[in-house]
Amino acid sequence: MDQIDYKIHIDKVIERIEKARISVSEHHIVKIVAVSKYSDADAVRALYEIGQRAFGENRVQDLAAKSEALDDLPLEWHFIGNLQKNKINQLIGLNPFLFQSLDSLELAEALQQRLFSRGDYTMECLLQVNAAKEATKSGVMPEEAKDIYQQITESCPNIRLKGVMTIGAHTDDEKVVRDSFEKTRAIYDSLEGATVCSMGMSGDFELAIRCGSNMVRLGSIMFPEA
Ligand SMILES: *Cc1c(COP(=O)(O)O)cnc(C)c1O
Repeated sequence: MDQIDYKIHIDKVIERIEKARISVSEHHIVKIVAVSKYSDADAVRALYEIGQRAFGENRVQDLAAKSEALDDLPLEWHFIGNLQKNKINQLIGLNPFLFQSLDSLELAEALQQRLFSRGDYTMECLLQVNAAKEATKSGVMPEEAKDIYQQITESCPNIRLKGVMTIGAHTDDEKVVRDSFEKTRAIYDSLEGATVCSMGMSGDFELAIRCGSNMVRLGSIMFPEA
């Protein structure tokens, strides 16, 4: 795809987001995080050149490699993957804009301890909710999410919780997917001071937006050639 075709493709994605967004409210703002995990640094640069600024990676080593290869650009990097404890220090060193996949109190406590001991750093994070209670997914159980969110807020001063993230239920049954998004949105609405409700991927972002998402994480649809 040349640059003009690519721009047309991305404009179509943005149009679909706009339609879903307006159906919620004209004042409802949705941010796109382009998930570059299937793509290389050149593809990120091409998307940057047509206006995209926020990018997401799900492996710490890939985030390190791409953010280093592209450190001449003013990009905003999101970490959206499973964080192993032995990668905490590396992630802190990369200073991501938002760590979206904080998925347990235990991980929060380990992260808090390292943030403090390595120089009183802070990190903005989202609590990942396993809204559909799938064994293959990480995240806190929906009924515990509010308590855990509050516990992290109280006991982890170097972690700045900004809201919640979920991955929609893995099924073709739209009702089940909708239910997982609505559950997450209800948790988000119950949290004091939360500003980010991150839900929706290439296959379900319009539904997620209609359920109240204000941040979508789009991979394959933003990088169609990967
Ligand atoms: C890969 C990934 C995405 C993007 O997936 P697509 O279906 O390609 O849009 C979004 N969120 C998370 C957590 C991911 O791992």
